[in-house]
Amino acid sequence: AKSCGRGNFQFFSAEMNAATHERLLLENRLWQALEQDEFELFLQAQIDLRSGAVIGAEALLRWHHPELGMVGPDRFIPIAEESGLILPLGDWALRRAVQLLDRWRGLGLGHLRLAVNLSARQCHGTGLLPLLDRLLRETGIDPALLELEITETAAMQDPERSRELLQQLRARGIKVAIDDFGTGYSSLSYLKLFELDRIKIDRGFVKDIETDPDDAAIVSATIGLAHALGLEVIAEGVETQAQADFLRGKRCDEAQGYLFARPVTVAEFEMLASAAETV
Ligand code: C2E
Ligand code: CA
Ligand code: CA
Ligand code: CA
Repeated sequence: AKSCGRGNFQFFSAEMNAATHERLLLENRLWQALEQDEFELFLQAQIDLRSGAVIGAEALLRWHHPELGMVGPDRFIPIAEESGLILPLGDWALRRAVQLLDRWRGLGLGHLRLAVNLSARQCHGTGLLPLLDRLLRETGIDPALLELEITETAAMQDPERSRELLQQLRARGIKVAIDDFGTGYSSLSYLKLFELDRIKIDRGFVKDIETDPDDAAIVSATIGLAHALGLEVIAEGVETQAQADFLRGKRCDEAQGYLFARPVTVAEFEMLASAAETV
């Protein structure tokens, strides 16, 4: 038993070393990565559940690490949050997103909406509104085509400031969605406090929608609540036709997930959206 325990310990510590090693590898290069233009926005289509049309996309960060290859945001966003890089990186993502909206006008894709994730630090800092004002002024894009996704956990870190920020965003015509709805420990009362456009149902609730009556009830009640409050609903992580059918039956407005499209490069998304336009 002793040698077994020891073997386990060694295995565990080797794993830890690998994780620590990766973290250091990522952390050391993160700032340089922004300067060297190693980040990219991938786009995942968002679908109108009634018509099946592509109505826009969510922008999802990817990092082309010179040694590790493509790194997903779950691996570097937490590090970027801690180190503060999330502020310039978040600004970069917003600037890039607004450029895309500007570009799409010339490609006959001027109706597409683009959703961008905001980190807690961006929400509670002072740079966001001046940046948005500058980007909107420089490009003249329709602010209603830009949607900002804020998790309820981030928003509830400082509810009063978040309320103010969301109100300022909506005063500019920018759309606001609450991301990962239902996963935090916040109460529903913030739905009254915050001015919102959309609720995004977390994929954790969508996953077992057909087999777990509790998840089905939560999703169905969330859609009803949102609609009663005049909000639209999008479900994320939709992977099967049965999930899409359930959501459509419950009058969910929009969906996003592997059933429709994976996150793809900007060029691939533009092809997909143009193809959808012509059929
Ligand atoms: P999120 O906002 O909840 O984004 C959805 C995640 O679910 C994405 O992972 C997406 O690729 C994945 N996904 C989409 N459809 C499906 C599906 O049908 N099945 C499954 N299993 N997964 C699906 P990704 O791209 O790895 O992003 C992870 C998280 O990283 C995001 O979660 C978001 O919180 C964060 N993130 C991504 N880009 C940014 C950014 O620009 N700024 C900030 N602050 N956070 C970002
Ligand atoms: Ca999101
Ligand atoms: Ca989400
Ligand atoms: Ca989620």
